[in-house]
Amino acid sequence: MAKIGFIGVGNMGGPMAINLLNAGHSVKVFDLAADAVKACVEAGGEAASSATEAASGVGVVISMLPKGEHVRQVYLGESGIIAAAGEGTLFIDCSTIDVATAREVSQAATVAGKMMVDAPVSGGVGGAEAGTLTFMVGGPAGAFEAAKPLLEIMGKNIVHTGASGNGQAAKICNNMILGISMIAVSEAFVLGEKLGLDHQTLFDIASTASGQCWSLTSYCPVPGPVPTSPANNDYKPGFSAQNMLKDLNLSQEAADGFHASTALGHAAMDLYEKYVSGEGEAADFSGIINMIRKS
Ligand code: NAD
Repeated sequence: MAKIGFIGVGNMGGPMAINLLNAGHSVKVFDLAADAVKACVEAGGEAASSATEAASGVGVVISMLPKGEHVRQVYLGESGIIAAAGEGTLFIDCSTIDVATAREVSQAATVAGKMMVDAPVSGGVGGAEAGTLTFMVGGPAGAFEAAKPLLEIMGKNIVHTGASGNGQAAKICNNMILGISMIAVSEAFVLGEKLGLDHQTLFDIASTASGQCWSLTSYCPVPGPVPTSPANNDYKPGFSAQNMLKDLNLSQEAADGFHASTALGHAAMDLYEKYVSGEGEAADFSGIINMIRKS
């Protein structure tokens, strides 16, 4: 059984760490929030007093942190975990962050004689709890193979997306499609309403015609057609509009840096910015239909 350090055990990291514990691994956890650590300790984990302590004396370190700045702070520098961890340690960063930071941190790990993959996820808190996440993994083949058995405990689809940073690239490209398609589906339902078209009728047509997409068939932004979608639960997240805006900011930052034309991605980011700064601050990302209806 592996000795694992787990840093950042919030909404996603907490259940991921608990799945590793349930599979019989030994897990040392660290988080700035004491409550988050407590839940893991109750499931059999050991509390570490710092990130560097969590990364010491283990073979693998997994992190699930909010943003690139947190990843840099935890990993880099003399007081970072790359310096603190033993030779040959495998780092798996599951946070959703910018591609440039993912590549810089992986490079620092390699220079220090350690292995690293960026392994952002899709599947949300439900997927983290059920151990059914999709992992998009960037990094050398050897590091991917070493990480895979642990990722298989926390997820169902484990995909090697190429070199370091490519896990983040896959994640932000996918979520750019998601943000754009949710707005497209929402605009279509609002136009349909104004034209006197019943929600279920439009759903039945579009879900079997060329308008078919995940935002429609799995996460429909109007209540009724897909009973499990947040629209049926007052747009409680789910996948928050804040997180969608974060991911759209990441894809736009990458598009600007690499001169990719993403006019719709940019428009989606602007609309989510407006939604999050108003009624959507605490809502699911599909709630953007309510702002579109009032526009
Ligand atoms: P969260 O805020 O619930 O958890 C992050 C945890 O990191 C918090 O408990 C926080 O205290 C801790 N933390 C922050 N800085 C730290 C530091 N320096 N040292 C130790 N701990 C620190 O967020 P989350 O929803 O679990 O998301 C984590 C990551 O997963 C984000 O990058 C997010 O974009 C991504 N993600 C989230 C979802 C989702 O549905 N929540 C889905 C896919 C991906």
